[in-house]
Amino acid sequence: MTRNRVERGLSHIWLPYTQMHTMRAPVVAESTDGCVIRTADGRSLIDGIASWWTACHGYNHPHIRQAVEEQLHRMPHVMFGGLVHRPALELATRLSALLPGDLERVFFTDSGSVAVEVALKMAIQYWLNRGVKGRTRLLSFRGGYHGDTIATMAICDPEEGMHAMFAGALPDQIIADLPTTPGKRAALDDLLARQGHEIAAIVVEPLVQGAGGMVFHAPEVLRALRDVADRSGSLLILDEIFTGFGRTGTMFACEQAGIVPDIVTLSKALTGGTMALAATVARRHVFEAFLSDDPLHALMHGPTFMANPLACAAANASLDLFECEPRLEQVEAIRQQLETELAPCLDLEGVKDVRVLGAIGVVQLERIDDLNALKDAFLSEGVWVRPFRDIVYLTPAFTIRPDQLSRLTGAICKVLARKTV
Ligand SMILES: *Cc1c(COP(=O)(O)O)cnc(C)c1O
Repeated sequence: MTRNRVERGLSHIWLPYTQMHTMRAPVVAESTDGCVIRTADGRSLIDGIASWWTACHGYNHPHIRQAVEEQLHRMPHVMFGGLVHRPALELATRLSALLPGDLERVFFTDSGSVAVEVALKMAIQYWLNRGVKGRTRLLSFRGGYHGDTIATMAICDPEEGMHAMFAGALPDQIIADLPTTPGKRAALDDLLARQGHEIAAIVVEPLVQGAGGMVFHAPEVLRALRDVADRSGSLLILDEIFTGFGRTGTMFACEQAGIVPDIVTLSKALTGGTMALAATVARRHVFEAFLSDDPLHALMHGPTFMANPLACAAANASLDLFECEPRLEQVEAIRQQLETELAPCLDLEGVKDVRVLGAIGVVQLERIDDLNALKDAFLSEGVWVRPFRDIVYLTPAFTIRPDQLSRLTGAICKVLARKTV
């Protein structure tokens, strides 16, 4: 693209989470290959983010590309009302087999936020269908992130979700502290004793609060939440949109706690970072609450492009790769390399914490004064690393080569050692 055409385009595009008034020129991506992003001005950047950790097999994986090409010839899309198709049926069967317990009913949508919306709707209607009145509220946690739509914003961290700015426009939900200490566990028990009867579901990101700053919690916290949900009679929704498909070292984060949620949401790495697709998966007892002679007891939701065959074909191909290539071993190798190579950052001035879980490496700083300068410094090192809030993080593709990963960790150590940021 010529510079003129880029500039013209930039005066018509509206970018996410961006103050367009003071925005600096974004990088124009031209093509991708494996763990490299090539830019229009001829640079090859090693990618540390895997496009919001979706591209778990690296970019342009030939197996996924072939599956999508074949599907494109056969049938790019049909409506999912009254019609079904093999890619969606196969994917639903495979997801049910991979997920623990009787998580066996799959509802497809096209984005993570909408998958969470559907989970919330399922939970609220679950109680209505069973004739239980008054269980319409949701309990979620400080530091959490579940999407950008109105209903999901209301269960995000109150500050990040801009609850104050949108006061009156967002449904009023209950936000608590994660029960990471005995004191917080007691406070949560108290809260449930008082308000448990109003709560349709408890919603949490298992093991990692991602967009909230990559904050980790122990599997015991999830077991505590399963226990709290059981005792108060609420459903438990795990938002595995970040953690699903190997990122924390197991296929799904809930496996590490040995618990089965009532509903789980999946997206991000579902298609290996190639197509927009999401899924909300419910346990048998949740699904059964929607079976009755009353047509209004059906799940009242249906996105136009739900279960898009191209996206389902990509997701099936991505699951093939988890079966025939050693993805979880690769995650373990990445974990070890991140631990070794990020550890020196702990000695740098201004570094508050270094933490690693699965293929997630985080360096937390006291503060970041000039985010743009920091982003530029990484670009000059030839790496695509996108610090936010007070953290610099890596969520690379599981197929990244050790020398590429070393380039990323080396760039982080070097840039943060400069102290000018
Ligand atoms: C990214 C994310 C979402 C939102 O997904 P979108 O596809 O961006 O709507 C929801 N929950 C979690 C945990 C996420 O990481």
